[in-house]
Amino acid sequence: MKCLVIGVESTAHTFSVSVVSSDGEILSNSKSVYKAPPGGGIHPFEASQNHLAAAPSVLTEALRSSGTEPGDLSAVAYAMGPGLGPCLRVGAVAARTLAASLGVPLVPVNHAVGHIELGCLLTGAEDPVVLLVSGGHTMIIAYSGLRWRILGESLDLTLGQLLDQFGRHHGMASPCGRAIEESASRSDHYLRLPYSVKGNDVSFSGLLTASKSLLDRGASFEDVSYSLQETSFSMVTEVTERALAFTGKKEVMIVGGVAANKRLSQMMSAMAERHSARVLAVPLEYSGDCGAQIAWTGVLAYESGIEVPVAESTVKQSWRLDVVDIPWRG
Ligand code: AMP
Ligand code: MG
Repeated sequence: MKCLVIGVESTAHTFSVSVVSSDGEILSNSKSVYKAPPGGGIHPFEASQNHLAAAPSVLTEALRSSGTEPGDLSAVAYAMGPGLGPCLRVGAVAARTLAASLGVPLVPVNHAVGHIELGCLLTGAEDPVVLLVSGGHTMIIAYSGLRWRILGESLDLTLGQLLDQFGRHHGMASPCGRAIEESASRSDHYLRLPYSVKGNDVSFSGLLTASKSLLDRGASFEDVSYSLQETSFSMVTEVTERALAFTGKKEVMIVGGVAANKRLSQMMSAMAERHSARVLAVPLEYSGDCGAQIAWTGVLAYESGIEVPVAESTVKQSWRLDVVDIPWRG
């Protein structure tokens, strides 16, 4: 029988609520995004205050635009982690309150698993190598033996942090990825930068320092943006290629906010073509953090019998996706 799950996302800058049906229809996806001040990053407490203020209207709007009544909901899912403590707690409190008052199960969802499962729903990917590139993650992932396994990752900054910290050094406000992409598109002058792939992992901290220093020494923002994109995207393409060759899978799916970048998709497509694999990119509206990733994964988890008693529901600031069992793919 068809069921409806409401999902609450609040791991970082976004507070978002969505209602999704068990046949994969996204009925609503309302959100409020905290904006960091120019030159600054996400301040966890400030972001949580944004979420607190926005929660009632985002929740009401998600229900209204879905055309459902609270009584139609079978379960409430929430992003239990990983993420920023103060932000996670706002979402958890909202979800607990809703689940307790409706008398329905509360379903914990790992945010990174949420990106992947929503990506599979929207792109039709069945068994992909996943490149998860966002503010919070840089990982190459594939499913094997009940879990999503991490085949490579960043040893320090995420790709989103690399771009955002570079942009902030130039006086921009986070998130800066789209503005850097736009500025990079106006250059084709490559300035040499450190390329750091270690085994199947990447490291971005030296690249960030070198890029900032080029700016400080007078190089144009366009040229450094271009060079930064070319270098960092080549690094993640190299490790994704190795994962693809190793697993022999035939799909590459890019998820997370950085998936919006056209140059990254272009590099991935050229690489995938050599392996007769296809590249699947999540539509822009759903590539960043959103309630739909939590609601849809909530459907899958709820149907597999996963729930947490309200009295025991916590948040987990650190929660690697490779410790989460995924029974619905077993
Ligand atoms: P998420 O954490 O999934 O919401 O993703 C946010 C990250 O995506 C931020 O670091 C943004 O700078 C980055 N981002 C958003 N749009 C783009 C883009 N067009 N190119 C590169 N990075 C982007
Ligand atoms: Mg995310």
